[in-house]
Amino acid sequence: MKIANKYSKGLITRCTNYKEADRIFTLISEEEGLMKFIARGAKKPSSKLSGHIEPLNYVNIFYKPSKSLNSVSQVQSIDSFLEIKNNYNLIIKAQYLMELAEAMSSEKEESSFILKLLIGILSGIHKSNLPDLDILIFEFEILKTQGFGIRLFECVNCDQKLIKAEHYFSTNIGGFYCQKCFVTNHHQGEMIRASIEQQSLLRTISRKNYKDLINYNLNTKQIVASRKLIQKSIRDIIGVQLKTIQFDDI
Ligand SMILES: [Zn+2]
Repeated sequence: MKIANKYSKGLITRCTNYKEADRIFTLISEEEGLMKFIARGAKKPSSKLSGHIEPLNYVNIFYKPSKSLNSVSQVQSIDSFLEIKNNYNLIIKAQYLMELAEAMSSEKEESSFILKLLIGILSGIHKSNLPDLDILIFEFEILKTQGFGIRLFECVNCDQKLIKAEHYFSTNIGGFYCQKCFVTNHHQGEMIRASIEQQSLLRTISRKNYKDLINYNLNTKQIVASRKLIQKSIRDIIGVQLKTIQFDDI
């Protein structure tokens, strides 16, 4: 019986060489989440697959489906993100973004929104004045896709509207304690103090008023401090421990 070719579209996140000339790789696909493929003969220079199959390539793929490894018959590159591949710092950032997107995707579960977020940030990050801000927005949005929005406007304990002041953020719960509850409650997990500016930055992102961020006079240090809240929430709420992130560094 002849198996019909199927089509998929997605970003290649990791590749390994296999046997003499084959490549095995992982794709975050639109329709079926994480998918694994084998590209037979892809290492041979004469192969029509050669050059297309490497991490950080956005591709169209035609393949023969299989329970173990789908077998690639044809690949077309949509975008190879050369601006990123030519810049070491951006490669490191892209590796982190891919790892995070992978951790939030599963097999056989459509991940078109995650893929859209990922392709969006990868397409623009080389032009950004504040790449960490792009990454913060990505982290914020990807956490929401898992059904865990960060609470920014009310106290996570008493639901009172937060006044304009410094507040403590619980990475376990993914939200702030008002000053009264912070003093009177027993906290579990890590609490991080967040400045008014940091809270305001996160609120603006949650409202998707990205254009307003131009007026914020943001610096990387402030953004990185806000990223820490989201990254630690991803670790504590979703339970994802990423290889590309060392919390000691931030
Ligand atoms: Zn409270």
